[in-house]
Amino acid sequence: MSEPTPSEMESRREAPPAFWRLLLAPWVYVGSPSKAAACMAKARWPAAGVACFLPVLAFAATIIFLAVWDATVELAWRDPHYTAVERSFSEVWQDWHKHGMGRVELLFAFLVALVPVLSGFVAWLLLPSVHRSGSVWRSYALAFRGAAAGAGLLTGLTFSVGAIGVFLSNEHVRETVLGHGHYVTPSLAPLVVGMGAFAFLVFWVSRSIGSLGDKVPAVEVPPRCEGCGYDLTHRPTSGLCPECGLSVESSLAPGVRRPGCRWENGKRGVLTWLSTVRGVIFTPSRFYGALRLRSPMDAPRAFTRWNYGLIGAGTVPFAAALLMASRNADLLLSMTLFTMFLVLIVAWSLHRLFGALAMSLWVVEGTLPDYGWAGKVIAYESAYLWAFCLYNGVLSAALTVNDHWLTDWFEALTGLKYGPFGLMIEELAMLGPNAALLLLWPWRYYLADRAIRWNNY
Ligand SMILES: [Zn+2]
Repeated sequence: MSEPTPSEMESRREAPPAFWRLLLAPWVYVGSPSKAAACMAKARWPAAGVACFLPVLAFAATIIFLAVWDATVELAWRDPHYTAVERSFSEVWQDWHKHGMGRVELLFAFLVALVPVLSGFVAWLLLPSVHRSGSVWRSYALAFRGAAAGAGLLTGLTFSVGAIGVFLSNEHVRETVLGHGHYVTPSLAPLVVGMGAFAFLVFWVSRSIGSLGDKVPAVEVPPRCEGCGYDLTHRPTSGLCPECGLSVESSLAPGVRRPGCRWENGKRGVLTWLSTVRGVIFTPSRFYGALRLRSPMDAPRAFTRWNYGLIGAGTVPFAAALLMASRNADLLLSMTLFTMFLVLIVAWSLHRLFGALAMSLWVVEGTLPDYGWAGKVIAYESAYLWAFCLYNGVLSAALTVNDHWLTDWFEALTGLKYGPFGLMIEELAMLGPNAALLLLWPWRYYLADRAIRWNNY
């Protein structure tokens, strides 16, 4: 498939979708992030704004509806036992408006304002998926539309998961009362399903913005010296770079300085994945120095999927083993799944946050001719998440076996019960190395930037 030229992109933009189709797009294309994003990206500005805004109103209304529904059945302590206070929807609504307009309307306005702010933040996080060159603002606006295309899914998930949650919560109140006022532990299922829905939304929006990025054409870059970036357009291939003396041939001959990585060149399997992870984590300069930056994003994306898939799959048996002591099958299953979604969401947030920070700095400094290369580096940096997983995995396993061995050991060694800042030594063991790993990340991006800045392949 050939890349569309900028003029083709323009002509596509000139054929906006019909207004009714645009309005329905966030709902109808819930199953296809790329179609929803394409429809939103092609629309002209005021129409696109309306199409994005309607689901936001629906989202805020859904939350208010769920809050009112939840308040129709409430648990109250009437000595000597619990009792249920049941009200109709209109009674709740009237009670909430005893003092005129107020909290409900404020909550509605807050939610309506919150969604665009969050979309704006997600668009920034995923800006590296769409920005290649030219106006950053235009790329940002494109990413924002990709994020806004998810407003229909957000509302749908909020409604369905919220309805299950409120229904179970109200049933739980009635059960407690029927059980003669003995408090019953509520089910964690809605919380777990909610986390899963949130993880799916994140995945969906990544796909929708990523699909918009695939249509942005690559930038034509003149041949460069890989050593110093000197423009080699009119240099004979047999000569040396006049700036740094590197042979021109070594920069321009395919496969000499950038043979690429095994993940992209050979068959993808567990061993290739392992060696790629090792290469990215331990020798970033060498890995990015050999990486080909102009090839399609399929392989790096597959690498990211492998990492997230294996992190998620690895968390399940690990968390289940650590939570074994709970001795309650329901609780064990809920907490295990909850941990898996939490780990995935935190991993994704850190991965994209540091990627977006690096990207923003590079854009401000103007270091790369084509920022699509940054997207490729960020995809491979997903391997670095394993450093966090391994450290925290080992630490939480060690603390599950014996939760105070670190304090005991520290006390025996120093005679102190607390470390600096009055923190428990377990807290320091959790915070310190994680902070150090995070601080290493900008340094890794610095190395990557230097390794990819001048490339010809
Ligand atoms: Zn040079």
